[in-house]
Amino acid sequence: MEIIREISILRARIKEARSQGKLVGFVPTMGCLHKGHLALLDKARAENGLTILSIFVNPLQFGIGEDYEEYPRHLESDAVQVKKAGGHIIFAPTVKEMYPQGHATYVDVERLTAVLCGASRPHHFRGVTTVVAKLFNIVNPDQAYFGQKDAQQALVIQRMVRDLNMNVLVHIIPTVREADGLAMSSRNSYLSPAERSAASILYKSLSQASEEIQGGQRDAAVIQAFIVEKISLELLANIDYVAVVDTEEIRPVKEISGRTLIALAVRFGKTRLIDNIIVEV
Ligand code: AMP
Repeated sequence: MEIIREISILRARIKEARSQGKLVGFVPTMGCLHKGHLALLDKARAENGLTILSIFVNPLQFGIGEDYEEYPRHLESDAVQVKKAGGHIIFAPTVKEMYPQGHATYVDVERLTAVLCGASRPHHFRGVTTVVAKLFNIVNPDQAYFGQKDAQQALVIQRMVRDLNMNVLVHIIPTVREADGLAMSSRNSYLSPAERSAASILYKSLSQASEEIQGGQRDAAVIQAFIVEKISLELLANIDYVAVVDTEEIRPVKEISGRTLIALAVRFGKTRLIDNIIVEV
């Protein structure tokens, strides 16, 4: 396992692997790896001859007053995990390597990024799509792996790939959860013990909503209100949004039918957590 910081060196390694006929699998992350990231890495390992995981805390996707400075950075322990999991390369560029002086080009997916997390984090997705497009251009992967945990991000990246004819197969991997259902996230480390315990309400409320839907409830407003009510019982929880939307355009639906995304963002103290489920009826 090798840690590479320079684009030119990474490209040379990839060229060499390609000349040996290897497929290139790519897992972009911001590091502070947990089992959710490792599930992506495992899949990439199983399906490709060369597996690259990037670790880059991308300043472009953080808003003013967000946690860019505090975001946990643990390259050494991340490297131990990637090695153990059989990953071949960690690409950990500096900000200067990714955005040298004069950088002026951005990738912006419209509409899908104006809602849900995009509404409360205005330039977030522009930062995500710009860095992922750059990383795709650097790595040129055959396959790339993203988590369902960031449902809107997954839809936005799939749309970018489709719209810009990027030659990469995107896989979306199911959310990996803690024993009480809380979606694993690098940001969970910010939670106080009381907030951590309260945060289990997110998946609990989504699971109960799913049961309501399986029991025949199809009214999206009723399901939305059901989740809001459950979460509101938790005094430490501050709801940013709870939304019931389609999985193409991320538009609110009135009636739940077909594939439907139920997504939420909730603050516990200064920590903003997201979660979601997809129901199919
Ligand atoms: P991040 O480091 O938070 O930017 O996440 C990097 C990738 O890991 C993204 O594609 C995330 O959706 C994915 N990911 C993060 N947490 C989880 C999780 N609990 N289960 C599955 N994938 C995850």
